Amino acid sequence: MTSPNSFILLLEKVDKLALSIFKQFKIEESKDAVVLIAPSEEYKNWALEYIKNKLSGFGKRIEVRSQKEAPRGQGSYGVLDRYTFDNYVVGKSNALVYKVSLEVSEKPGVSFNPLFIYGPVGVGKTHLLHAIGNRALSYGYTCAYVSINDFSDEMVKYIKQGRVEDFRRKYSQVDILLLDDIQFLSGKERTQVELFRVFEYMHSKDRQLVLVSDRHPKDLKDVSDRLISRFEGGLVVEVGLDEETKLSIIKHKLILYGLPVDDRMIEYVHENTGYNVREIEGFIRGVKVKGVQEIPKDSKKGAHVEDVIRFVARHFKLKPEDLLKESKERKVANAKQIAMYMCKAVLGASYSEIARYFGKRDHTGALYSVRKVEQRMREDRKFALMLSFLERSLREQLKERL
Ligand code: ADP
Ligand code: MG
Repeated sequence: MTSPNSFILLLEKVDKLALSIFKQFKIEESKDAVVLIAPSEEYKNWALEYIKNKLSGFGKRIEVRSQKEAPRGQGSYGVLDRYTFDNYVVGKSNALVYKVSLEVSEKPGVSFNPLFIYGPVGVGKTHLLHAIGNRALSYGYTCAYVSINDFSDEMVKYIKQGRVEDFRRKYSQVDILLLDDIQFLSGKERTQVELFRVFEYMHSKDRQLVLVSDRHPKDLKDVSDRLISRFEGGLVVEVGLDEETKLSIIKHKLILYGLPVDDRMIEYVHENTGYNVREIEGFIRGVKVKGVQEIPKDSKKGAHVEDVIRFVARHFKLKPEDLLKESKERKVANAKQIAMYMCKAVLGASYSEIARYFGKRDHTGALYSVRKVEQRMREDRKFALMLSFLERSLREQLKERL
């Protein structure tokens, strides 16, 4: 085993899965040693464990290190080094956003300015912002990462101290400004005015802006037209999570957590989680701690699903069986979605379980309904209030049995 990349060759032969993780490392191999540079602590620990268990017979010394923290110059703040391009799993639904993000981090202010990224929760938007920051910092650019709410709070502080100029300077003097959760600009008038100034200044100097939001610029509410048109003036790109990418993320995370990567396990995670990497990670962490939990079919939990159905039906003045059929009637369809949401929120039922009860073909049907309700809660305050009231009374009613 003396060839210069015997490490890769060996893994190619014996463990393709592990290889897919090791590909995220920088690998330096010489005649008598292999040095693996991990993209984060998490990977480093995984590699140490793997080497101990599986590669003790490898002919060379193997050393594992964490990537050195990117050098942070002045005016570089808020960027977390645990989110990098190296530990971001790429698939169909995020390939484009990955490519343009890389480009922006290496040549800020050149091609897409601003870069506006939007997509649902948990698909890696914040991760990408930090990844851009880390890569750009390693090229010697200065960056700042800030969410709109923090930007706004900070602005208020500076204004109170009579230092609004300092505030503007802080955010417009960096090579790349990474702004998260743009949807929270909604209704914040002064913040919009200040952001507009920062924007105009940076743009005139060809400094890069990267903006992240849960929706397209056109769908932002109570945001000034001039800002919206600026947001749309560069490249607007959507990020999501398709099934194939979700599956590769599940495999990837299962390996990282040292869990078996067989079809049953993948399916178990897939069926019990939505299209949200945070949820997937949380679920896998739970499996790591508690092991695989049998999904009860007609047991105690089953009785609870029926309780939820009865409760929601009563609230909407419907019959429980109405909620179990397909219906085009809006009121019924609405109540049915809410009942499915409650099963998830209050009972923690799995999507497959919900689907089974409500006669959906598979877990994606249930998932879709729950997502619909969540989206409406974000967009409609009155609806959100009604639902939280409903949820509280339901919890109250089920208290003894939960
Ligand atoms: P968002 O900002 O879109 O809500 P985050 O960036 O906060 O989502 O991602 C949630 C979690 O999932 C983070 O821990 C992140 O590292 C992880 N994650 C998201 N997408 C990916 C991906 N494609 N590959 C690896 N990890 C991911
Ligand atoms: Mg985020």
